[in-house]
Amino acid sequence: MADLVIVGAGLGGLAAAWDAARFLPDYKIKVIGDEPPYVRHKLRVAVAGKDIMVPTKHVESLGVEFVWGEVEKIRREQREVVLKSGQTLKYDYLILATGSQPSRPKRIEGIEKTMGFRRLEDARRLREEKPSTVAIIGASFVALHVADSALAVGAEPVIIVRSRLVRKSLEPELSQILEERLKEIGVKFVHATPKRVGDGVVEADGQEVKADLIVAAAGVDPDIRLAREAGLDLIWDWAVKVDEQGRTSDPNIFAIGDVANCYSPVTNEPEYLGIGTAATLMAFNAIKAIQGSKAAVKTPAYIKDAFMGGNFVFRAGLVSTEAEKAGFNVERVDVSGTEFGDHAYIVYDKDTRRVIGFSSVSSKDIGPKAIEMEKAIVIKRKIDQVLPESVGGG
Ligand SMILES: Cc1cc2nc3c(=O)[nH]c(=O)nc-3n(C[C@H](O)[C@H](O)[C@H](O)COP(=O)(O)OP(=O)(O)OC[C@H]3O[C@@H](n4cnc5c(N)ncnc54)[C@H](O)[C@@H]3O)c2cc1C
Repeated sequence: MADLVIVGAGLGGLAAAWDAARFLPDYKIKVIGDEPPYVRHKLRVAVAGKDIMVPTKHVESLGVEFVWGEVEKIRREQREVVLKSGQTLKYDYLILATGSQPSRPKRIEGIEKTMGFRRLEDARRLREEKPSTVAIIGASFVALHVADSALAVGAEPVIIVRSRLVRKSLEPELSQILEERLKEIGVKFVHATPKRVGDGVVEADGQEVKADLIVAAAGVDPDIRLAREAGLDLIWDWAVKVDEQGRTSDPNIFAIGDVANCYSPVTNEPEYLGIGTAATLMAFNAIKAIQGSKAAVKTPAYIKDAFMGGNFVFRAGLVSTEAEKAGFNVERVDVSGTEFGDHAYIVYDKDTRRVIGFSSVSSKDIGPKAIEMEKAIVIKRKIDQVLPESVGGG
């Protein structure tokens, strides 16, 4: 039997363990985790006191062994990892699935004092401290999860937005619409650049936002400590650099999920998504590569979420601003008021007519349309093949 060791028992690590149990019968599979697994994207439900733990019994019954503790270092020459406890585990293949941490941008003085919203203890803190105001730095999807959680514990959420709400996932008009809808149900917005975090206060362009809790929700930084110390190549000097199958600069080490880059099916270039849907596909690619396959599924950007007040938000592929930066000759079609949602845009490339992005804000779930648009982007459908009749398709 060969040894497969997976570091991190989060979404990516668990997905890799499941796939390994299925596709690698000749491997002894060990997952090392410094916390028990839970559904991270359901943290806001945990704020309300609900159980979001993921039972490990079933995957253990398939032969996967869990080792609880923190990996301290990787000894590449010996092909082994060393835990803080001193325990050493040998590997033939190692998969790093160490995830990411809430980003605390240095341009904001004092931001290191803020809490993040990523781990179970963050949800617990929000619930137990009973804040009356929660200031949220950043306008990411996680910022919306925090706002939702704040409302759930009876606090007023104040989102401090530098540019616009979830700008990498929504067309500019949709950011505005979502903001208006969230204001109606009690979310406050301050449009300013946060400069300094003090004791119970955020200073942003001369304004002071006072709060009992201040949460950093300005994106994430991949947890690359182990990879960097082991001398693995990085990309953008920030994430673990991997090829399309997830292989790092060491052929016996893979990296998946939030810790590494993935590959866009739109541009074919490396990109960073930091989403669960990417982590599971990257896990699949890595296990298939260890099995000997040359195949790799590219990771489509895909987010579907429901927020306060019954707002369904959906995104696939690139928004027009990102598509322009990637060099496409961008055109948009407004498909608002159709089966694509109350407010929705399809983005396509004028030269090839290929669909490259879609985003929607709606008061109801657009259901299979969301999946259809994700597929359209991945399989390179033309705009004329996806438009509803009412806006010139059919
Ligand atoms: C509030 C919130 C909402 C989200 N909503 C969505 C959503 O709607 N859709 C979506 O697709 N994605 C969503 N995401 C993102 C998604 O949760 C992540 O992309 C996903 O969890 C990444 O999986 P991962 O395995 O790479 O990392 P993680 O799930 O973070 O797991 C990494 C694990 O490794 C452990 N670890 C790190 N270092 C070590 C070490 N040295 N030794 C042992 N263990 C270690 C960490 O403690 C952690 O448990 C959300 C995230 C948050 C925080």
